[in-house]
Amino acid sequence: MGLTGLEIYKQLPKKNCGECGTPTCLAFAMALASGKGSLDSCPYVTDEAREALDSASAPPIKAIKFGNGSVLGDETVLFRHDKTFYHPTTILIQISDTLSDEEIFAKVDQINNLEYDRVGLHYSVDGIAIVNNSNEPSRLTDVVKSISEKTDKSIVILSENIEALEASVPQVSERKPLIGFANSENFEKVVELAKENKVPVILKADGLDSLNDLVEKAQKLGYKEFVLDPGSRTPSQTLANLTHLRRLSIKKKFRPFGYPIIAFTSKENPLDEIAEASIYVAKYASAIVLKASSKAQLLPLLTFLQNLYTDPQKPIQVEPTLHAVGEVNENSPVYITTNFSLTYYSVEGEVEASKIPSYILPIDTDGTSVLTAYAAGKFEPEKIADALAACGVADKVSHRNVIIPGYVAVISGKLQEKSEWKVVVGPRESSGILSFSKTLAL
Ligand code: SF4
Repeated sequence: MGLTGLEIYKQLPKKNCGECGTPTCLAFAMALASGKGSLDSCPYVTDEAREALDSASAPPIKAIKFGNGSVLGDETVLFRHDKTFYHPTTILIQISDTLSDEEIFAKVDQINNLEYDRVGLHYSVDGIAIVNNSNEPSRLTDVVKSISEKTDKSIVILSENIEALEASVPQVSERKPLIGFANSENFEKVVELAKENKVPVILKADGLDSLNDLVEKAQKLGYKEFVLDPGSRTPSQTLANLTHLRRLSIKKKFRPFGYPIIAFTSKENPLDEIAEASIYVAKYASAIVLKASSKAQLLPLLTFLQNLYTDPQKPIQVEPTLHAVGEVNENSPVYITTNFSLTYYSVEGEVEASKIPSYILPIDTDGTSVLTAYAAGKFEPEKIADALAACGVADKVSHRNVIIPGYVAVISGKLQEKSEWKVVVGPRESSGILSFSKTLAL
């Protein structure tokens, strides 16, 4: 179990110099105790204190990096409302090395093309898990090499055959793949291979007691780049294991389980599989390996994932720059709204439905809606006038009419004065844009 803030405080230099970024040593100790800081931030810690505090100051779940920017773990809370979640679950699509080369290439192409734009954000799947179902070292090596040439996504290499891992991993070590599996039989060789190639490794055991035993033995080999697989392959048992592992690492600071967790789906039907994967996204997989690979199948999972990992304290925002909807021309209306994503996309959807190519200028209101922004002084006539001038829309249209939301009709006079544009008061709600647009003289 981790140390309390006061126990950590006793070991600190008590200079209260603030160089660690917190005003006092006590505040720094409290931050360390809750896993929100690094002991390295204090330059005055003695070696003895460092040794004593090392485990207490480490984050409750170690960050493991692999592949093309994939980061697993490094979470500090059980529930998003406690603070936030930092690293979205890494989604990996599996490819078996028993498929033909043509089938493999087609699947890699399909995975490369899994790209989505939603509420102003771009997202895609993170990587490919290559599974050594052939159990043949040469086949795994060929497939690993050819897949790595056809994608820049993160790569996971999965085999329990040490010869297959030894043959394939060095071929792509510069891509820093995540490799597995190290189990109770082979862990010394697999962890040594991971250490030599500087790649993280999955420790797999059957159940939490065996996993604890395996982690402790593996740690003694002087390597700690681990991802944990509790071995379960049914939804209920996997959910139970994921929840226990997360609770033990966060609440009890139980160090052997302070690593990211990887989950594997068991369902064959794609809809069932996506539902299963959604459970693991919610609680608490750092990475998921699944079989579904079509755009329509992945969309609901990635949408849920995006929603869960959005920081509730930071509203999703769109770029506060001029947006064109449709084939705009010099007669196109100019709408003003805020840069809160939901507000902007509600307006954009209705403008699109009006079939009148238009400009929309979202004002930077820190992602707040129209009334909230106005009440907070973030949707003021001066600010809107400045944005109108800066966005260059005056060079794109021949008129000088700007439409503002009906809820802020009160600013129309002052905005007209500041901007020298004629201000037209639009509907209060975006749902009124369709009928409002029919009144526009174009
Ligand atoms: S840098 Fe070290 S000595 Fe200074 S306030 Fe922080 S913990 Fe205390």
